Amino acid sequence: MAELEGLEFGKSDFVLLDEVNMEQFMENLKLRFEKARIYTFIGEVVVSVNPYKQMDIYGKEAIDAYRGRELYENPPHLYAVADAAYKAMKRRAKDTCIVISGESGAGKTEASKYIMQYIAAITNPSQRAEVESVKNVLLKSNCVLEAFGNAKTNRNDNSSRFGKYMDINFNFNGDPTGGHINNYLLEKRDIQEGAASTTSNNDRSSHRAVLSALQVIGFSKEEIDSIYRILGTILILGNLQFETDSESVQVVGSEAVSHIAGLTTTEPDNVTKSLLYRTVATGGGEVIEKGHTEKEACFGRDAFAKALYERLFCWIVARINAVIEVKDYNPVLHGKNTVIGVLDIYGFEIFDNNSFEQFCINYCNEKLQQLFIELILRQEQDEYQREGITWRHIDYFNNQIIVDLVEQPHKGIISVLDEACLTVGKVTDTICLESMDAKLGQHPHYTSRKLTPSDKTMEFHRDFRIRHYAGDVTYSVEGFLDKNKDPLFQDFKRLMYNSSNPVLKEMWPDGQLSITEVTKRPLTAATLFKNSIVALVDKLGCKEPYYVRCIKPNEMKSPVLFDDARCQHQVAYLGLLENVRVRRAGFAYRQPYARFLQRYKMTCEYTWPNHLMETDREAVEAIVTQHGFQDDVAYGHTKLFVRTPRSLFTLEQERAALI
Ligand code: ADP
Ligand code: MG
Repeated sequence: MAELEGLEFGKSDFVLLDEVNMEQFMENLKLRFEKARIYTFIGEVVVSVNPYKQMDIYGKEAIDAYRGRELYENPPHLYAVADAAYKAMKRRAKDTCIVISGESGAGKTEASKYIMQYIAAITNPSQRAEVESVKNVLLKSNCVLEAFGNAKTNRNDNSSRFGKYMDINFNFNGDPTGGHINNYLLEKRDIQEGAASTTSNNDRSSHRAVLSALQVIGFSKEEIDSIYRILGTILILGNLQFETDSESVQVVGSEAVSHIAGLTTTEPDNVTKSLLYRTVATGGGEVIEKGHTEKEACFGRDAFAKALYERLFCWIVARINAVIEVKDYNPVLHGKNTVIGVLDIYGFEIFDNNSFEQFCINYCNEKLQQLFIELILRQEQDEYQREGITWRHIDYFNNQIIVDLVEQPHKGIISVLDEACLTVGKVTDTICLESMDAKLGQHPHYTSRKLTPSDKTMEFHRDFRIRHYAGDVTYSVEGFLDKNKDPLFQDFKRLMYNSSNPVLKEMWPDGQLSITEVTKRPLTAATLFKNSIVALVDKLGCKEPYYVRCIKPNEMKSPVLFDDARCQHQVAYLGLLENVRVRRAGFAYRQPYARFLQRYKMTCEYTWPNHLMETDREAVEAIVTQHGFQDDVAYGHTKLFVRTPRSLFTLEQERAALI
């Protein structure tokens, strides 16, 4: 149990609420935020509220206070969870993972960095050089990934536009030996669209930091040079325009093309050709070149720029992985190699306009919610079994029905989307929506709408709505099909593959395929995403999970504003009340007999001042019986289980009065 601070700071564990309801939950959350207590436990889960100001709670002193201690010995903190995960890994040779969730700007990435820093600080006490170097590279990789994968948005100045899962490997000493990063769904935007313009005095030093991080990780001069060349190419593509003269479409001006050719080490003629034509295979197997319309040329250019960036990002991740991968690990010589995974992934997104990206992100959250419920319940169940205590089943909302709505083969939304994308001939977003209606119209979590033409555009807007576990989200189908398909013409891939720059060539291996070899049924973006999330969930599922649930207190990045409605909404969809209920329906608290005795012995005549019982367990029984809550507890093999917090509360008060 968390050390109880004075009640003026609220309850340090939501399990201690007198009653589990939204009102009490919110009251406690708000009180703690106002008292600068940004962390609160729900059992072993940490709920965090973004303070939007520097807190003096992460320094060496704090690290020392949490190192090697039990969760309940200190006030709630990220370090408590990080230490619990680390201890489980080291003492019991368990693979563990820390899942950090919450919406954009809630503080996930900051939390993941503090957790990494904590782990770095408590490992390798003997300062062995090779371990220090691994730690350095792991920490530096953050800086590089943020530089390329984050952007300034309205919601967050340093918003991660990709999901990240990082495994850290440990040797039998508990020292880091390497790691592996998986990245998920880097958001791609149309050129210049939505980019918040930022230039700040820090740009120069940030640039230097990234450059030095790249060097520390081991990127060669040629590789770094290639990275900048690709970024340059993307910028030029952003300014490249087309014009249609009497016969055909042309690129405006000639500098852009020669500039791109120079940067990508390709032939200017080939650059022009890829921008203006596409190779197609006719039904008869003939290969012809077809000129773009101006609209198609623009579409191709934008798709090319996005693909360049995405491949660059994935290549950087792969390159980092090659460096941090554990090499030459021999389990016989070195003992079991254990892992702590840290997941920093986008939370549920409900915007005014929700598109394909939100659909993917929210599906991911449904999967993680499934896992959360399953693991939290399973963990409880395991513990009761180990301790020989009878378990009574708890009902909870099972969101499997929504997961199925999205991912079921042949029937789910992804499958309908894929079918539409692979159908030859013109399938529009609207037709696709109609086939979703046909298959899913009866589903209790699905509805669709046809909006009347808006005055401005005189177009029909069509959308569908999913009743997610976190709330209803309406998705506009516009653009769904294009985003689901691989929109990049093969001609661009071939252009890049034929670059004389080996780094660039390496990023485009599929460019060697001729148009007739290009696979007829490529995996779509939704299916690739689904596969990666299924793999992620499998990975997490076999680890012992620890959770950090992040809440954003307001939309203004203000350190003093607690927006009740916004916070309550997040508490609801993160399922925090259910979490408290699950925790309390079983036994809210459990403590090893010796610890319990140590803390409360002074409240009972049989244990204070002298311990008159044979065993710790008997002594604990004496305390429990003297206070009359014997019906509220169960005795496990090694621990006392207490069902309601009230009992402990009484004890705490009595103890406080005595000391
Ligand atoms: P997310 O990854 O959830 O989108 P971030 O972790 O990037 O959000 O946090 C957004 C911003 O909030 C940070 O740039 C920082 O200014 C502030 N912030 C988040 N967590 C903390 C913290 N623990 N202490 C101080 N500021 C924080
Ligand atoms: Mg982030």
